[in-house]
Amino acid sequence: MSQPDILPPPRAIDLVSPPCLTTVFHSASPNLPWTRSRSPPDSIEDDNLHDDNVNDDGDCDIIFPGLPPLFRGHPDVHLRNGVIRAAHLSAAGVPDAERAYFVADLSYVYNQYQRWKRCLPEIEPFYAVKCNPDPFVLRLLAALGTGFDCASNGEIAQILLLDVNPARIIFANPCKAASHVKSAAGQGVDTMTFDNVDELYKVARISPTAKLVLRILTDDSKSLCRLGLKYGAPLVTVPGLLAKAKDLELDVIGVSFHVGSGCYDPSAFADAVRWARAAFDMGLAAGYNFSLLDVGGGFDDATFEATAGVLRDAIDLHFPDRTGLRIIAEPGRYFVSRAFSLAANIIARRAPLSDGKTTEIKDKGNDQPSVMYYINDGVYGAFNCILFDHQQVYPYVLSMNGSFHFSGTESVGPSSVWGPTCDSIDCVCPMTMLPEGLGVGDWLAFDNMGAYTVCAASRFNGFAISKVTYTLGDGHGSQETLLALKAAVSAATA
Ligand SMILES: *Cc1c(COP(=O)(O)O)cnc(C)c1O
Repeated sequence: MSQPDILPPPRAIDLVSPPCLTTVFHSASPNLPWTRSRSPPDSIEDDNLHDDNVNDDGDCDIIFPGLPPLFRGHPDVHLRNGVIRAAHLSAAGVPDAERAYFVADLSYVYNQYQRWKRCLPEIEPFYAVKCNPDPFVLRLLAALGTGFDCASNGEIAQILLLDVNPARIIFANPCKAASHVKSAAGQGVDTMTFDNVDELYKVARISPTAKLVLRILTDDSKSLCRLGLKYGAPLVTVPGLLAKAKDLELDVIGVSFHVGSGCYDPSAFADAVRWARAAFDMGLAAGYNFSLLDVGGGFDDATFEATAGVLRDAIDLHFPDRTGLRIIAEPGRYFVSRAFSLAANIIARRAPLSDGKTTEIKDKGNDQPSVMYYINDGVYGAFNCILFDHQQVYPYVLSMNGSFHFSGTESVGPSSVWGPTCDSIDCVCPMTMLPEGLGVGDWLAFDNMGAYTVCAASRFNGFAISKVTYTLGDGHGSQETLLALKAAVSAATA
């Protein structure tokens, strides 16, 4: 049996001392696993400290009354400002001063939109709201002119509140509650997907003039989240479904598919477009002349150009004549994944006793984590993406020993990172290399936290959902992002 361990007391956080504020980024070797790769800003300003609803330094705008302020500057600056702010709040005795927080760089979303237009100019993106229904993200995309993929009447209501024309919404859930079909139709949202015959009867009864889109099953085996288990009509069933739709005098306007979320093999799109072509031909045979091709979601930041190339070629090959054809997509992850980072505080640690002999961690070999870190967000919160979205997350050190300066030569050791709830499934990182000097009170950060994270976070065990600090970024697209958001306000008040 191991002894109860005695941890050193939490370190005093002295991030408020001037040296930490002026030169923030250590010139640390960027290849260490716990340092970040993105280029850092070279200064940090104490006066960027903020509270959610306080405009205290003139470097932020309150654009939307009732929403948090919008800051400027590199997201790294705001990640660090959050640490400093927590230190101030903690010194003032504020409860939960060290709570975890997101930083969202909205210019990233803006730039992804521009990138989309460059690579897929013929395809209109309909943002998949479920991926991250963040109020700023939705307003920005609405201002840029995207459509929206909604799956419930709640999501439809959220988008209509932004004064988006209902024609810009596709109700892309093939298995809808009858009451949701009814309320959507009542609000003018009449484009909706189906993939089974019961849905046809339902729509014929409730919303007979709906514009129906047939979701077909395609090969989703090259993606992180396979959706074909649940949705999509196999091609062999398509002629029967379309014949039934014709019988019911329903208006089927096109075909959709989803190659699976987090699709890592662009060729999946080529096959899917080929199958969609087959479904178009089955439509002709059934007496329909389809006018909509919906290529779904599954787009990934890292493989986007390759995917776009494959998709363009497949469309050229299978739909050489595109007169009267409208092509849309339903990207979710693509727009937001890299726009959000999360900072979390190390609230506890379980480490070998300082005598160097006794270890508190049971039954572990040499290559197993010898230090367990407990942080204040976990799989019941932002990191639900680990369970539901099959993500792996990679922590890096934001502050250590009360400072943003930490040695790039600090030795690292195998570590595991855990969330705050009392459930042992709440493991954020089973194995990662972290500096041996890391301890209670230090901060870790995680990038790529924008997709399927905060939207599915729970308050299990009484832990709050982490809040978001918004910035326009400090580079390309910041000014355009601000202008787009301001346009969103004037459109809403016009
Ligand atoms: C989830 C979902 C999307 C978005 O998928 P991403 O992989 O995030 O792009 C698009 N369409 C439908 C129908 C979905 O269910």
